[in-house]
Amino acid sequence: MKKAIPILMLMLLTLQGIGAPRQRKAATLLQPRVEPAFWWTGMKNPALQLMVHGKDIALTRVVVNHPGVLLKSVTAVENPNYLFVDLDLGKATPGKFDILFQKEGKNLAVYSYELKEREAGSAERQGFNSSDVMYLVMPDRFANGNPDNDEVAGMKEKPNRADLKGRQGGDIQGLRDHLDYISGMGFTAVWLNPLLENDMHEVSYHGYATTDFYKVDPRYGSNEEYRAFALEARRKGIKLIMDMIFNHCGSEHWWMKDMPMADWLNFYPDYKITTHIRYANQDIHASDYDRKLFSDGWFVPVMPDLNQRNPYLATYLIQNSIWWIEYVGLSGIRMDTYSYPDKELMAAWNRRIGEEYPSFNIVGEEWHMNQAILSYWQKGKTNLDGYQGELRSLMDFPLQNAVSSALRDEGTGALMNIYECLANDFQYPEPENLVVFPGNHDMPRFFVQVNKDVDLVKMGIGLFLTIRGIPQLYYGDEVLVSHDSTRDHDSQFRKCFPGGWAGDPVSGFTGKGLTSQEKEVQDFIRKIALWRKDKKVIHTGKLMHFVPFDGFYLFFRYNDKEKVMVVLNKNNGEAVLKTDRLSEMLTGCSGASEIITGKTYSALSELTLPGKSISVFELH
Ligand code: CA
Repeated sequence: MKKAIPILMLMLLTLQGIGAPRQRKAATLLQPRVEPAFWWTGMKNPALQLMVHGKDIALTRVVVNHPGVLLKSVTAVENPNYLFVDLDLGKATPGKFDILFQKEGKNLAVYSYELKEREAGSAERQGFNSSDVMYLVMPDRFANGNPDNDEVAGMKEKPNRADLKGRQGGDIQGLRDHLDYISGMGFTAVWLNPLLENDMHEVSYHGYATTDFYKVDPRYGSNEEYRAFALEARRKGIKLIMDMIFNHCGSEHWWMKDMPMADWLNFYPDYKITTHIRYANQDIHASDYDRKLFSDGWFVPVMPDLNQRNPYLATYLIQNSIWWIEYVGLSGIRMDTYSYPDKELMAAWNRRIGEEYPSFNIVGEEWHMNQAILSYWQKGKTNLDGYQGELRSLMDFPLQNAVSSALRDEGTGALMNIYECLANDFQYPEPENLVVFPGNHDMPRFFVQVNKDVDLVKMGIGLFLTIRGIPQLYYGDEVLVSHDSTRDHDSQFRKCFPGGWAGDPVSGFTGKGLTSQEKEVQDFIRKIALWRKDKKVIHTGKLMHFVPFDGFYLFFRYNDKEKVMVVLNKNNGEAVLKTDRLSEMLTGCSGASEIITGKTYSALSELTLPGKSISVFELH
């Protein structure tokens, strides 16, 4: 690249006076990276900022000549290989136009920029909500639909199926091949762990070390394959939720070799590791020292911490989200490590997305057991420090922990954990918009959490599918994918889905080789998830629960038309539920149908329920 300019100049000199087309062909030899590579007309916010990267690009003059496209400003920064070009598209029409990078009147580079027309209904898209059941899938670990892309020339890490920390070869095609399985299970949304390029030397499969924010990792497929997958999923009634990371990038990100500005990263080049003390954002007594070390410290040494206070980086990240929403047709975003980036940027990002897509949804990961800490971020919360959280949804880690421990711990007293957790819902502006889940890619499988007890698995998952909120299940939990209970590495929790690889002896997709217990759990989840699909009372009904008694925890979901009663019996043996204390909900009910067994009940004063069970009664 360093030698390219003199050669190019020479060619330009040689070509002087020759016809324009040939001159232009020679001039495009300098090919700057322009991000975002294309954009759309008709966005609510007409501003677009292009980041241009190319050798000595700052020494050129930028020329844009297209009706309706106003070149507002061009900013050179401390690295001459970058330019930031601000455009106003308020009056722009769709089409292509050239951006010229000129020096001494000659074109050193010509970038053909496209403004696309937005798809009809793009702004009105419906984000994921409590009518959905979300399925979390790690793309490397679900199904290998295209073995040809397992190894991609030039990429640093090769596949290694012998090691769970290595790449397994799963891809977008594998997901696409199994969309009918996903919808057949009653799932209506998929959240994919990140699939942008992670060209790291090792352990790149999880996707949390982005090396290109605008490119799907070729080991999963292309940007176009991702888009085609999203379209087909949408046709099958499945929404797509993209996992994004604003806190950090991967140490092999392309800009690490040519940093735009000294303050693009925090604590750079001498990094410090974050304290992970997640109280720092809310603590009104916190020192600046602790706040800074938490927020600006690096997550791990191979994940440089991005400085979202840099306005160019902030704009870059916000536009990147909008680009993927618009390009792929996303229905939601899951934001990784939500509390670690600059919190003002996170609020601004939510506001901007809300402006463009009023019914969109975003769920943030704040891995904390304290409801007060989570609720701080939710849109509508009044905080003592004046911070306006703009986030609509959060991952309900407190409920995950409460349900898991209530089932795992000996005795029936632990059911109070669930009761007490939900009794804290008053802290949230919108508890019904939290994502509730038995497990995810960062924690032991739910089956392992509850000591590999299938009855407890069903009780827990059944609760998450019927309680308030948006349920999310983790791929493979439906067929009891398991691991040793010791936590030697996160990769243990991310084993391949059985049946996703040619020659797998067992298939969760077809049922081949599943044990009776695995089938039982899969059928159980399918039954409730399909039933839930059009149950408005579960989606939006109110919740009433009772203080646990006699080894039972139970709650009602109800609206003007319907009532559902969900009962968890944690007694080891059959037990009789006396319903006299439930009269405010049961008065006027003539009977019930239990949806898992199909049994009907004509009298409700006493219900005999099997030990360690969940029952879901539709009340008549
Ligand atoms: Ca593959």
